[in-house]
Amino acid sequence: MTDATAQATGHRRPADLPDRIQHYIDGAFVDSVDGDTFDVLDPVTNETYLQAASGKKADIDLAVAAARRAFTEGPWPRMLPRERSRVLHRIADLVESRDKRLAELESFDSGLPISQALGQARRAAENFRFFADLIVAQADDTYKVPGRQINYVNRKPIGVAGLITPWNTPFMLESWKLGPALATGNTVVLKPAEFTPLSASLWAGIFEEAGLPQGVFNLVNGFGEEAGDALVKHPDVPLISFTGESSTGSLIFGNAAPYLKGLSMELGGKSPAVVFADADLDAAVDATIFGVFSLNGERCTAGSRILVQREIYDEFVEKYAAQAKRVKVGYPHEETTEVGSLVHPEHYDKVMSYVELGKTEGRLVAGGGRPEGFDTGNFVAPTVFADVSPDARIFQEEIFGPVVAITPFDTDEEALALANNTKYGLAAYIWTSDLKRAHNFSQAVDAGMVWLNSNNVRDLRTPFGGVKASGLGHEGGYRSIDFYTDQQAVHITLGEVHNPTFGKQG
Ligand code: NAD
Repeated sequence: MTDATAQATGHRRPADLPDRIQHYIDGAFVDSVDGDTFDVLDPVTNETYLQAASGKKADIDLAVAAARRAFTEGPWPRMLPRERSRVLHRIADLVESRDKRLAELESFDSGLPISQALGQARRAAENFRFFADLIVAQADDTYKVPGRQINYVNRKPIGVAGLITPWNTPFMLESWKLGPALATGNTVVLKPAEFTPLSASLWAGIFEEAGLPQGVFNLVNGFGEEAGDALVKHPDVPLISFTGESSTGSLIFGNAAPYLKGLSMELGGKSPAVVFADADLDAAVDATIFGVFSLNGERCTAGSRILVQREIYDEFVEKYAAQAKRVKVGYPHEETTEVGSLVHPEHYDKVMSYVELGKTEGRLVAGGGRPEGFDTGNFVAPTVFADVSPDARIFQEEIFGPVVAITPFDTDEEALALANNTKYGLAAYIWTSDLKRAHNFSQAVDAGMVWLNSNNVRDLRTPFGGVKASGLGHEGGYRSIDFYTDQQAVHITLGEVHNPTFGKQG
C-alpha cells in the first residue's frame, strides 16, 4: 500500500516495518538454505508487505541440530531452576516494556484490534512470569517404605521441543508453549503460522537480551506442509506441542506415530453458551457478545453457539441483535475498534461462505456481509443468525470469525443434548442463577473448560484443553510442566538388600 492510499483509507502502517523476515538458528538470523521466501499480506489491504524465509526440511534439520547441541552440551538444561527463572523473568520484563510495539506489529500483521493485541502482549509476559515462578516452587514426590526403601521422582527436561502455533493471537500462543518448554530446561524449535510471522521474529532479540544461551531458541518460518511437517517427522524432536485446527492435529498425530512422540494438541472448538431463563440477562448478553466477537471471532474458545431457554428467547435475540449491530468494526490500529479485519483473504472467503450459508440455515438478525465503509480488506460485520437448527452446518462447524448461531431450548435435558451435539468439546459457558443446575450442567457438559456466569477469564494454574475433537492432553500450570518433562522413578534400598535369590539350588 502506498502512503497516499493509507491516508485515504485511514489505515496506518507502523514505522520501521521490516521488509523481510529470516529464520533464527543457533543464535543467528539466516535465510532459507534454498533461498525461498513467501509473501506476507497486510490484512487491511491484502497487499504483500514483507517476504518471509520459507523453511523446508534442510532448515528444520539445521535448527534441530542447533537445539540438540544446546541441549546435550549447553548450560540451559543443567542450570538451577532459580537461574532459569531469572532469565524468564527478564523475558517477561522485556515483553512488558515493549508491549505497545508488540501490539502495534501484531495488530498490523493479524488484523486484531490494537486494544486486544495489547492485552495479548501483556498476557504473553504473564505466561513467562507464571512459569518462572512455578519452576522454582516445583516440588516432586518422594515415597517412603519405612526401613526398606525410598523412591523419589527425578524430573528431567526431555530434549528438543517442536512448537507449532496458529495465527490467532500468535505472540501470546507462542509464549504459552515457549514459557513452560524453556522453564523446564528444554531447547526449542518454533514454527509459527505462515499468515502471521511478524511478532514471532521479535522473540530472538528479546531472548538474546534476557540472556538465553545460544541455540536454546530456534525459529523456522514456513508452511505447515513443509517446515511444520519436517519438524513433526524429525527423529531428534521427541515432543510436539501443537495448536491449530482439528484436522491438522489429526494429520500430525498420524505423522508423529512412527516416532512415538509426546504430543499435546490444542484444537478447534464450537463452544456452547447456554442461557437459562433465570440468568442475569444483561450480563449474559454482554458476555456472549464479547465471547464471539472479541479477537475478531478468531478465538478457539469462542462461544459461537448460543442456546437460549424458550421463555426468554425472543427478548434475548432482540437485545443480542441490537447490541451486535453496535459492535464497532474499525481499522485494527484504532483504539475504539472492537472488531478489526480477519487475518487473510483465504480465511475471509471461508468465513464469508459460512455467512452466505447461514442465510439459508437461519434467520439473519444482524450483519451478514461486509460492513459499510470497508470496501477492501478482510472486514466482516458481526453476524447473528437466530432459529438455527442443530443439524445446520453453521451450528456444527467451526467458522472462526464474527458469526454466531442462536437456537432455542425448553428443558435442561434438551439444552445438554444440544450443547453436546457437536464433534468438539473445548469450552462451555453456562448462565443460570440456580446453583444445583449450574453444577450439574457443568459437570455433564462435554467440554474441557466451563465458565459459570462468567466470561472466558482464565486462571493460569488451571488445566487448559479440550475433549473430543478439541484436543488431546491438557496443558496449564503443573500439567504443562508434566508435558515438558520426564518423571523418572529412582528406587533406593534402605535396609537389607531384598533379593529373591535365584541359582542357589544344587
Ligand atoms: P492450522 O491447523 O491451519 O495451522 C496451525 C499451525 O500448524 C500452523 O503453523 C501451520 O503452518 C501448521 N501446520 C499446518 N499443516 C501442518 C502439517 N501437516 N504438519 C505440521 N504443521 C502443520 O490452524 P490455523 O488456521 O493456523 O489456526 C486456527 C485453528 O487453531 C482453529 O481451529 C482454532 O480453534 C485452533 N486453535 C485452538 C486453540 C486451543 O487452544 N484449543 C487455540 C487457538 C487456536
